[in-house]
Amino acid sequence: MSQSAPHTLPTIKISPRGATRLKSGHVWVYRSDVVSAEGVLPGALVRVSDHRGKNLGSALYSSSSQIAIRMLSHELLTDFPALLRQRIAEAIAYREAFVRDTEAYRIVFSEGDFLPGLIVDRYNDIVSLQILTQGMDADPVRQAILAELTARLHPAAIIERADPRVRELETLPPRASGLVQGEKTSTTFTMNSIQFRFDALEGQKTGAFLDQRENYAAAAQYAHGEALDVFCYQGGFALHLAPHCSPITGVDSSRPALELADQNATLNQGLLGQKEIEWIEANAFDLLKDYSSPARPGEARRYDTIVLDPPAFAKSKRDLDAALRGYKELNLRALKMLRPGGILVTCSCSYHVSQSNFLEMLASAALDAHRTLRLLEVRGQAKDHPVLLNIPETAYLKCIIASVT
Ligand code: SAH
Repeated sequence: MSQSAPHTLPTIKISPRGATRLKSGHVWVYRSDVVSAEGVLPGALVRVSDHRGKNLGSALYSSSSQIAIRMLSHELLTDFPALLRQRIAEAIAYREAFVRDTEAYRIVFSEGDFLPGLIVDRYNDIVSLQILTQGMDADPVRQAILAELTARLHPAAIIERADPRVRELETLPPRASGLVQGEKTSTTFTMNSIQFRFDALEGQKTGAFLDQRENYAAAAQYAHGEALDVFCYQGGFALHLAPHCSPITGVDSSRPALELADQNATLNQGLLGQKEIEWIEANAFDLLKDYSSPARPGEARRYDTIVLDPPAFAKSKRDLDAALRGYKELNLRALKMLRPGGILVTCSCSYHVSQSNFLEMLASAALDAHRTLRLLEVRGQAKDHPVLLNIPETAYLKCIIASVT
Protein backbone atom coordinates (compact mmCIF):
# COMPACT_ATOMS: atom_id res chain seq x y z
CA MET A 1 0.00 0.00 0.00
CA SER A 2 2.86 2.38 0.76
CA GLN A 3 4.19 4.22 -2.26
CA SER A 4 7.79 5.20 -2.80
CA ALA A 5 7.08 8.69 -4.21
CA PRO A 6 4.01 10.88 -4.42
CA HIS A 7 3.90 10.92 -8.16
CA THR A 8 3.52 7.13 -8.23
CA LEU A 9 0.06 7.38 -6.66
CA PRO A 10 -2.75 6.58 -9.07
CA THR A 11 -4.96 9.60 -9.64
CA ILE A 12 -8.74 9.79 -9.39
CA LYS A 13 -10.43 12.75 -11.00
CA ILE A 14 -13.64 14.00 -9.38
CA SER A 15 -16.47 16.27 -10.50
CA PRO A 16 -16.86 19.92 -9.41
CA ARG A 17 -19.72 18.79 -7.11
CA GLY A 18 -17.39 16.25 -5.45
CA ALA A 19 -14.67 18.90 -5.09
CA THR A 20 -17.13 21.34 -3.51
CA ARG A 21 -18.11 18.72 -0.99
CA LEU A 22 -14.45 18.22 -0.01
CA LYS A 23 -13.93 21.97 0.24
CA SER A 24 -16.82 22.15 2.71
CA GLY A 25 -14.78 19.95 5.04
CA HIS A 26 -16.38 16.61 4.25
CA VAL A 27 -14.16 13.62 3.52
CA TRP A 28 -16.35 11.48 1.27
CA VAL A 29 -16.77 11.49 -2.48
CA TYR A 30 -19.61 9.41 -3.89
CA ARG A 31 -19.18 7.19 -6.90
CA SER A 32 -21.45 9.46 -8.94
CA ASP A 33 -18.84 12.22 -8.51
CA VAL A 34 -15.92 10.12 -9.70
CA VAL A 35 -14.97 11.20 -13.22
CA SER A 36 -12.23 8.67 -13.86
CA ALA A 37 -10.72 5.87 -11.81
CA GLU A 38 -9.42 3.67 -14.55
CA GLY A 39 -7.08 0.91 -13.49
CA VAL A 40 -7.18 1.91 -9.81
CA LEU A 41 -7.04 -1.17 -7.61
CA PRO A 42 -9.58 -1.85 -4.84
CA GLY A 43 -8.44 -0.25 -1.57
CA ALA A 44 -5.61 1.69 -3.21
CA LEU A 45 -4.07 4.82 -1.77
CA VAL A 46 -4.83 7.47 -4.41
CA ARG A 47 -4.23 11.07 -5.30
CA VAL A 48 -7.50 12.97 -5.75
CA SER A 49 -7.70 15.77 -8.27
CA ASP A 50 -10.45 18.11 -9.44
CA HIS A 51 -11.67 18.05 -13.05
CA ARG A 52 -8.86 20.44 -14.05
CA GLY A 53 -6.22 18.18 -12.53
CA LYS A 54 -5.60 20.30 -9.42
CA ASN A 55 -4.44 18.24 -6.48
CA LEU A 56 -6.95 17.85 -3.60
CA GLY A 57 -5.03 15.38 -1.45
CA SER A 58 -4.74 11.66 -0.73
CA ALA A 59 -7.49 9.17 -0.08
CA LEU A 60 -8.42 5.52 0.11
CA TYR A 61 -10.40 4.16 -2.81
CA SER A 62 -13.17 1.59 -2.69
CA SER A 63 -14.13 -0.14 -5.91
CA SER A 64 -17.52 -1.26 -4.60
CA SER A 65 -18.91 1.16 -1.97
CA GLN A 66 -21.12 4.09 -2.98
CA ILE A 67 -18.58 6.09 -0.97
CA ALA A 68 -15.82 5.67 -3.53
CA ILE A 69 -13.28 7.97 -1.88
CA ARG A 70 -12.48 8.59 1.78
CA MET A 71 -9.99 11.39 2.18
CA LEU A 72 -6.99 10.96 4.45
CA SER A 73 -5.03 14.15 3.99
CA HIS A 74 -4.66 17.32 1.94
CA GLU A 75 -1.02 16.27 1.47
CA LEU A 76 0.26 13.73 -1.01
CA LEU A 77 1.06 10.77 1.19
CA THR A 78 4.02 8.56 0.65
CA ASP A 79 3.64 6.12 3.54
CA PHE A 80 0.10 5.20 4.59
CA PRO A 81 1.09 2.72 7.36
CA ALA A 82 3.21 5.48 8.97
CA LEU A 83 0.29 7.92 8.86
CA LEU A 84 -1.96 5.26 10.30
CA ARG A 85 0.36 4.67 13.25
CA GLN A 86 0.59 8.38 13.92
CA ARG A 87 -3.21 8.80 13.84
CA ILE A 88 -3.77 5.84 16.16
CA ALA A 89 -1.30 7.41 18.59
CA GLU A 90 -3.20 10.71 18.34
CA ALA A 91 -6.54 8.97 18.88
CA ILE A 92 -5.19 7.34 22.04
CA ALA A 93 -3.85 10.71 23.26
CA TYR A 94 -7.30 12.27 22.66
CA ARG A 95 -8.90 9.65 24.94
CA GLU A 96 -6.23 10.20 27.57
CA ALA A 97 -7.22 13.86 27.59
CA PHE A 98 -11.02 13.51 27.56
CA VAL A 99 -12.18 10.08 28.70
CA ARG A 100 -12.67 9.47 32.44
CA ASP A 101 -13.99 6.81 34.81
CA THR A 102 -13.91 3.86 32.49
CA GLU A 103 -11.80 0.91 31.46
CA ALA A 104 -13.89 0.49 28.31
CA TYR A 105 -14.05 3.08 25.57
CA ARG A 106 -13.71 3.53 21.83
CA ILE A 107 -10.13 4.16 20.82
CA VAL A 108 -10.66 4.79 17.11
CA PHE A 109 -13.97 6.02 15.67
CA SER A 110 -13.37 5.82 11.93
CA GLU A 111 -13.82 9.26 10.29
CA GLY A 112 -14.15 10.84 13.76
CA ASP A 113 -10.45 10.03 14.24
CA PHE A 114 -9.41 10.63 10.62
CA LEU A 115 -9.11 6.87 10.12
CA PRO A 116 -11.98 6.05 7.76
CA GLY A 117 -13.05 2.42 7.93
CA LEU A 118 -11.39 1.54 11.22
CA ILE A 119 -13.12 1.01 14.57
CA VAL A 120 -11.15 0.03 17.68
CA ASP A 121 -12.63 -0.50 21.15
CA ARG A 122 -10.89 -1.23 24.38
CA TYR A 123 -12.42 -3.40 27.07
CA ASN A 124 -9.87 -3.23 29.87
CA ASP A 125 -7.05 -5.54 28.70
CA ILE A 126 -8.76 -6.73 25.51
CA VAL A 127 -8.81 -4.68 22.33
CA SER A 128 -11.45 -5.31 19.70
CA LEU A 129 -11.12 -4.03 16.16
CA GLN A 130 -13.34 -3.86 13.14
CA ILE A 131 -12.31 -3.15 9.56
CA LEU A 132 -14.99 -1.71 7.30
CA THR A 133 -13.28 -0.79 4.04
CA GLN A 134 -10.99 -2.23 1.38
CA GLY A 135 -8.31 0.36 2.18
CA MET A 136 -8.01 -0.77 5.80
CA ASP A 137 -8.05 -4.49 4.97
CA ALA A 138 -4.68 -4.79 3.21
CA ASP A 139 -2.03 -6.82 5.07
CA PRO A 140 0.55 -4.05 5.61
CA VAL A 141 -2.24 -1.83 6.94
CA ARG A 142 -3.44 -4.51 9.36
CA GLN A 143 0.14 -5.05 10.54
CA ALA A 144 0.59 -1.33 11.20
CA ILE A 145 -2.68 -1.22 13.17
CA LEU A 146 -1.70 -4.19 15.34
CA ALA A 147 1.84 -2.89 15.87
CA GLU A 148 0.69 0.54 17.06
CA LEU A 149 -2.09 -0.78 19.31
CA THR A 150 0.33 -3.27 20.88
CA ALA A 151 3.09 -0.71 21.40
CA ARG A 152 0.74 1.84 23.00
CA LEU A 153 -1.71 -0.30 24.97
CA HIS A 154 0.05 -3.66 25.63
CA PRO A 155 -3.28 -5.55 25.54
CA ALA A 156 -3.54 -9.17 26.68
CA ALA A 157 -5.34 -9.90 23.42
CA ILE A 158 -6.63 -8.29 20.25
CA ILE A 159 -9.75 -9.66 18.63
CA GLU A 160 -11.31 -8.86 15.29
CA ARG A 161 -15.04 -8.51 14.80
CA ALA A 162 -15.69 -9.24 11.17
CA ASP A 163 -19.06 -8.04 9.90
CA PRO A 164 -19.99 -10.42 7.04
CA ARG A 165 -22.50 -7.97 5.53
CA VAL A 166 -20.00 -5.10 5.42
CA ARG A 167 -17.30 -7.37 3.99
CA GLU A 168 -19.65 -8.53 1.27
CA LEU A 169 -20.62 -4.95 0.37
CA GLU A 170 -16.93 -4.03 0.15
CA THR A 171 -16.27 -7.20 -1.89
CA LEU A 172 -13.75 -8.35 0.71
CA PRO A 173 -13.11 -12.08 1.20
CA PRO A 174 -15.03 -13.65 4.10
CA ARG A 175 -13.15 -13.61 7.39
CA ALA A 176 -13.94 -15.22 10.71
CA SER A 177 -14.24 -13.16 13.86
CA GLY A 178 -11.76 -14.14 16.55
CA LEU A 179 -8.39 -13.64 18.16
CA VAL A 180 -5.70 -12.02 16.05
CA GLN A 181 -3.22 -11.71 18.90
CA GLY A 182 -2.93 -13.25 22.37
CA GLU A 183 -5.19 -15.84 24.01
CA LYS A 184 -7.57 -14.02 26.30
CA THR A 185 -11.18 -13.77 25.10
CA SER A 186 -13.07 -12.56 28.15
CA THR A 187 -12.50 -10.01 30.86
CA THR A 188 -14.34 -7.64 33.18
CA PHE A 189 -14.22 -3.88 33.05
CA THR A 190 -15.38 -1.06 35.28
CA MET A 191 -17.36 1.85 33.84
CA ASN A 192 -18.66 4.64 36.09
CA SER A 193 -17.90 2.36 39.09
CA ILE A 194 -20.15 -0.41 37.69
CA GLN A 195 -18.63 -3.71 36.64
CA PHE A 196 -19.40 -5.46 33.37
CA ARG A 197 -18.36 -8.69 31.78
CA PHE A 198 -16.94 -8.71 28.27
CA ASP A 199 -16.98 -11.89 26.27
CA ALA A 200 -15.34 -11.34 22.92
CA LEU A 201 -16.62 -14.43 21.18
CA GLU A 202 -20.17 -14.63 22.50
CA GLY A 203 -23.41 -12.69 22.31
CA GLN A 204 -25.37 -11.19 19.44
CA LYS A 205 -22.95 -8.29 19.14
CA THR A 206 -19.61 -8.53 20.81
CA GLY A 207 -19.09 -5.74 23.24
CA ALA A 208 -21.11 -3.10 24.97
CA PHE A 209 -22.78 0.07 23.75
CA LEU A 210 -19.87 2.30 24.68
CA ASP A 211 -21.50 5.33 23.04
CA GLN A 212 -24.03 5.45 25.93
CA ARG A 213 -21.38 5.59 28.68
CA GLU A 214 -21.87 9.24 29.62
CA ASN A 215 -25.65 8.96 29.20
CA TYR A 216 -25.72 6.11 31.76
CA ALA A 217 -24.09 8.38 34.31
CA ALA A 218 -26.39 11.31 33.39
CA ALA A 219 -29.54 9.16 33.67
CA ALA A 220 -28.42 7.87 37.07
CA GLN A 221 -28.41 11.46 38.41
CA TYR A 222 -32.17 11.81 37.92
CA ALA A 223 -33.42 8.22 38.26
CA HIS A 224 -35.64 7.34 41.20
CA GLY A 225 -38.42 5.01 42.31
CA GLU A 226 -39.66 2.15 40.16
CA ALA A 227 -37.59 1.81 37.00
CA LEU A 228 -38.12 0.12 33.65
CA ASP A 229 -35.21 -0.24 31.21
CA VAL A 230 -36.66 -1.09 27.80
CA PHE A 231 -34.25 -2.60 25.22
CA CYS A 232 -31.86 -3.22 28.10
CA TYR A 233 -29.36 -5.53 26.26
CA GLN A 234 -26.73 -6.50 28.85
CA GLY A 235 -28.10 -4.10 31.45
CA GLY A 236 -26.14 -0.90 30.73
CA PHE A 237 -28.82 1.52 31.93
CA ALA A 238 -30.50 -0.82 34.44
CA LEU A 239 -27.26 -1.37 36.36
CA HIS A 240 -26.50 2.33 36.44
CA LEU A 241 -30.03 3.07 37.72
CA ALA A 242 -29.92 0.28 40.28
CA PRO A 243 -28.29 2.22 43.15
CA HIS A 244 -31.03 4.86 42.90
CA CYS A 245 -34.16 2.85 42.02
CA SER A 246 -36.23 -0.05 43.30
CA PRO A 247 -37.64 -2.28 41.96
CA ILE A 248 -35.85 -2.40 38.59
CA THR A 249 -37.00 -4.27 35.52
CA GLY A 250 -35.06 -4.76 32.27
CA VAL A 251 -36.74 -5.84 29.03
CA ASP A 252 -35.12 -7.22 25.88
CA SER A 253 -36.01 -9.72 23.18
CA SER A 254 -32.59 -11.38 23.32
CA ARG A 255 -32.16 -14.15 25.87
CA PRO A 256 -28.33 -14.26 25.57
CA ALA A 257 -28.22 -10.50 26.25
CA LEU A 258 -30.40 -10.95 29.34
CA GLU A 259 -28.23 -13.82 30.59
CA LEU A 260 -25.25 -11.50 30.42
CA ALA A 261 -27.26 -8.75 32.08
CA ASP A 262 -27.95 -11.12 34.96
CA GLN A 263 -24.26 -12.05 35.24
CA ASN A 264 -23.46 -8.33 35.29
CA ALA A 265 -25.94 -7.82 38.12
CA THR A 266 -24.22 -10.60 40.09
CA LEU A 267 -20.85 -8.90 39.53
CA ASN A 268 -22.25 -5.77 41.19
CA GLN A 269 -23.81 -7.43 44.22
CA GLY A 270 -21.73 -5.27 46.53
CA LEU A 271 -23.37 -2.19 45.07
CA LEU A 272 -26.86 -3.64 44.73
CA GLY A 273 -27.08 -5.24 48.18
CA GLN A 274 -30.36 -7.15 48.45
CA LYS A 275 -31.82 -5.51 45.34
CA GLU A 276 -32.74 -7.84 42.51
CA ILE A 277 -33.22 -6.78 38.92
CA GLU A 278 -35.97 -8.59 37.08
CA TRP A 279 -35.05 -9.39 33.46
CA ILE A 280 -37.98 -10.00 31.12
CA GLU A 281 -37.58 -11.56 27.68
CA ALA A 282 -40.24 -9.95 25.50
CA ASN A 283 -41.00 -7.91 22.44
CA ALA A 284 -40.90 -4.37 23.81
CA PHE A 285 -43.80 -3.16 21.65
CA ASP A 286 -46.09 -5.94 22.91
CA LEU A 287 -45.00 -5.55 26.50
CA LEU A 288 -45.44 -1.78 26.57
CA LYS A 289 -48.89 -2.18 25.01
CA ASP A 290 -49.92 -4.70 27.69
CA TYR A 291 -48.45 -2.63 30.49
CA SER A 292 -49.83 0.76 29.41
CA SER A 293 -53.26 -0.35 28.12
CA PRO A 294 -54.08 -3.67 29.80
CA ALA A 295 -57.39 -5.46 29.24
CA ARG A 296 -58.44 -4.39 32.74
CA PRO A 297 -57.64 -0.69 33.07
CA GLY A 298 -57.00 -0.96 36.82
CA GLU A 299 -53.95 -3.13 36.07
CA ALA A 300 -51.98 -0.48 34.15
CA ARG A 301 -48.38 -0.34 35.33
CA ARG A 302 -46.80 2.80 36.67
CA TYR A 303 -43.13 3.76 36.86
CA ASP A 304 -41.01 6.65 38.08
CA THR A 305 -38.17 6.15 35.60
CA ILE A 306 -38.36 4.66 32.10
CA VAL A 307 -35.47 4.21 29.67
CA LEU A 308 -36.14 3.59 25.96
CA ASP A 309 -33.05 2.63 23.95
CA PRO A 310 -34.26 0.75 20.86
CA PRO A 311 -32.09 -0.45 17.97
CA ALA A 312 -31.79 1.87 14.94
CA PHE A 313 -35.22 1.99 13.31
CA ALA A 314 -34.11 4.00 10.27
CA LYS A 315 -31.34 2.26 8.37
CA SER A 316 -31.82 4.65 5.45
CA LYS A 317 -33.54 7.95 4.70
CA ARG A 318 -36.49 6.08 3.21
CA ASP A 319 -37.29 4.54 6.60
CA LEU A 320 -37.65 7.92 8.34
CA ASP A 321 -41.46 8.04 8.56
CA ALA A 322 -41.80 4.43 9.68
CA ALA A 323 -39.02 4.98 12.21
CA LEU A 324 -40.70 8.05 13.66
CA ARG A 325 -43.97 6.11 14.01
CA GLY A 326 -42.08 3.39 15.91
CA TYR A 327 -40.40 5.90 18.22
CA LYS A 328 -43.70 7.68 18.79
CA GLU A 329 -45.52 4.50 19.78
CA LEU A 330 -42.84 3.61 22.32
CA ASN A 331 -42.60 7.10 23.76
CA LEU A 332 -46.36 7.55 23.93
CA ARG A 333 -46.75 4.34 25.91
CA ALA A 334 -43.86 5.19 28.21
CA LEU A 335 -45.29 8.66 28.88
CA LYS A 336 -48.65 7.16 29.81
CA MET A 337 -46.96 4.93 32.37
CA LEU A 338 -44.82 7.55 34.08
CA ARG A 339 -46.01 8.93 37.41
CA PRO A 340 -46.02 12.72 37.78
CA GLY A 341 -42.46 13.86 38.37
CA GLY A 342 -41.22 10.79 36.52
CA ILE A 343 -38.08 10.65 34.42
CA LEU A 344 -38.04 9.64 30.76
CA VAL A 345 -34.70 8.73 29.22
CA THR A 346 -35.33 8.25 25.50
CA CYS A 347 -32.73 7.47 22.86
CA SER A 348 -32.32 7.03 19.13
CA CYS A 349 -29.20 5.74 17.44
CA SER A 350 -30.57 6.24 13.91
CA TYR A 351 -28.42 8.73 12.04
CA HIS A 352 -31.30 9.39 9.62
CA VAL A 353 -33.52 10.61 12.49
CA SER A 354 -32.11 14.04 13.28
CA GLN A 355 -32.20 15.60 16.73
CA SER A 356 -34.98 17.94 15.61
CA ASN A 357 -36.98 15.04 14.08
CA PHE A 358 -36.64 13.22 17.39
CA LEU A 359 -37.65 16.18 19.54
CA GLU A 360 -40.66 16.88 17.29
CA MET A 361 -41.74 13.25 17.62
CA LEU A 362 -41.42 13.51 21.39
CA ALA A 363 -43.42 16.75 21.52
CA SER A 364 -46.18 15.12 19.51
CA ALA A 365 -46.18 12.03 21.78
CA ALA A 366 -46.40 14.32 24.84
CA LEU A 367 -49.41 16.11 23.35
CA ASP A 368 -51.18 12.83 22.60
CA ALA A 369 -50.40 11.48 26.07
CA HIS A 370 -51.58 14.76 27.72
CA ARG A 371 -48.27 15.08 29.52
CA THR A 372 -45.83 17.96 29.84
CA LEU A 373 -42.14 17.37 29.34
CA ARG A 374 -39.40 19.54 30.74
CA LEU A 375 -36.07 18.83 29.10
CA LEU A 376 -33.35 18.14 31.62
CA GLU A 377 -30.67 17.12 29.14
CA VAL A 378 -30.35 16.89 25.38
CA ARG A 379 -27.39 14.61 24.87
CA GLY A 380 -25.48 12.75 22.18
CA GLN A 381 -22.79 10.10 22.07
CA ALA A 382 -19.90 9.84 24.53
CA LYS A 383 -16.74 11.83 23.78
CA ASP A 384 -14.80 8.75 22.71
CA HIS A 385 -17.10 8.73 19.64
CA PRO A 386 -16.03 12.19 18.42
CA VAL A 387 -18.40 14.22 16.29
CA LEU A 388 -16.75 16.21 13.51
CA LEU A 389 -18.75 19.31 12.82
CA ASN A 390 -18.14 19.20 9.08
CA ILE A 391 -19.08 15.52 8.81
CA PRO A 392 -22.71 15.26 9.95
CA GLU A 393 -22.64 11.46 9.61
CA THR A 394 -20.32 11.23 12.64
CA ALA A 395 -23.19 12.33 14.94
CA TYR A 396 -25.87 9.67 15.30
CA LEU A 397 -26.92 9.14 18.92
CA LYS A 398 -29.64 11.18 20.63
CA CYS A 399 -30.43 10.79 24.33
CA ILE A 400 -33.09 13.05 25.83
CA ILE A 401 -33.69 13.12 29.58
CA ALA A 402 -36.94 14.79 30.60
CA SER A 403 -39.03 15.34 33.69
CA VAL A 404 -42.63 14.40 33.03
CA THR A 405 -45.63 16.03 34.72
N1 SAH B 1 -29.67 -0.07 26.19
C1 SAH B 1 -28.66 -1.00 25.75
C2 SAH B 1 -28.50 -1.08 24.27
C3 SAH B 1 -29.74 -1.45 23.50
S1 SAH B 1 -29.40 -2.01 21.89
C4 SAH B 1 -27.34 -0.65 26.41
O1 SAH B 1 -27.18 0.46 26.86
O2 SAH B 1 -26.45 -1.50 26.42
C5 SAH B 1 -30.97 -2.53 21.38
C6 SAH B 1 -31.49 -3.79 22.05
O3 SAH B 1 -32.82 -3.96 21.61
C7 SAH B 1 -30.78 -5.09 21.73
O4 SAH B 1 -30.35 -5.68 22.93
C8 SAH B 1 -31.84 -5.98 21.06
O5 SAH B 1 -31.76 -7.33 21.48
C9 SAH B 1 -33.11 -5.35 21.56
N2 SAH B 1 -34.30 -5.48 20.73
C10 SAH B 1 -34.42 -5.32 19.39
N3 SAH B 1 -35.72 -5.40 19.02
C11 SAH B 1 -36.44 -5.61 20.15
C12 SAH B 1 -37.83 -5.75 20.43
N4 SAH B 1 -38.74 -5.67 19.46
N5 SAH B 1 -38.21 -5.92 21.71
C13 SAH B 1 -37.29 -5.97 22.70
N6 SAH B 1 -35.98 -5.84 22.50
C14 SAH B 1 -35.55 -5.66 21.24
